[in-house]
Amino acid sequence: MRTDSPRHQGQRLQLVEQLRERGIMDEGVLDAISQVPRHLFLDSSFEQYAYRDAAFPIRAQQTISQPYTVAFQTEALRAPSGSKILEIGTGSGYQAAVLAAMGYKVYTIERQKELFDFSKSLLLDLGYRVSQKFGDGYKGMPAFAPFDGILVTAAAPALPQELLEQLRPGGRLIVPVGEVESEQSMHAVWTDKAGLRQEEVLGQFRFVPMLKDVNTGR
Ligand code: SAH
Repeated sequence: MRTDSPRHQGQRLQLVEQLRERGIMDEGVLDAISQVPRHLFLDSSFEQYAYRDAAFPIRAQQTISQPYTVAFQTEALRAPSGSKILEIGTGSGYQAAVLAAMGYKVYTIERQKELFDFSKSLLLDLGYRVSQKFGDGYKGMPAFAPFDGILVTAAAPALPQELLEQLRPGGRLIVPVGEVESEQSMHAVWTDKAGLRQEEVLGQFRFVPMLKDVNTGR
């Protein structure tokens, strides 16, 4: 079994400094990034690059997000420790581990069985408590709603309505919206105290597509 080491911990602290320079300010987020052993979420052939601020391929033609993107989305939730957070697109499990390290109660959905199985055993081995579902993220987890925050880690063609309905009032949905061929806009969506929907575009990012149908892959 691969392990963590002081060398990896040192590399993580350097990564945290880079994220700080790029504008991540939430100390809770930076602390979580400094704790989670990202190299264990990557294939061993990429291990030496694990603490570069870059995305890498994982199984099933998917990618683990760049640390800056993970930090940006986590910060954008603006959720206090103890909040109930739903992630769509478990992938390697890295983002879910960062959310767990933040002290959130984490729920996550993945539609690729291979990644569901991989992330489930890894998160368990590392001692992160995360409720995982194998299924379609567009449907969310209504049985556990409402959530204090929902974070989507794949590009959605439009705002996912069913997920919006699973947010508590004031809770934030962080989702990259747009065409797959180009960059997507990161949206934050929430309802204000008057019950009105508010929306803000936070920046441009590039994600793998959020797919509607597990069988046809579209
Ligand atoms: N958060 C991941 C990165 C995910 S890449 C990490 O930290 O590693 C996006 C993931 O979303 C992929 O694993 C992909 O299989 C998954 N995905 C795409 N469409 C989905 C859907 N409709 N429901 C759930 N997961 C989906």
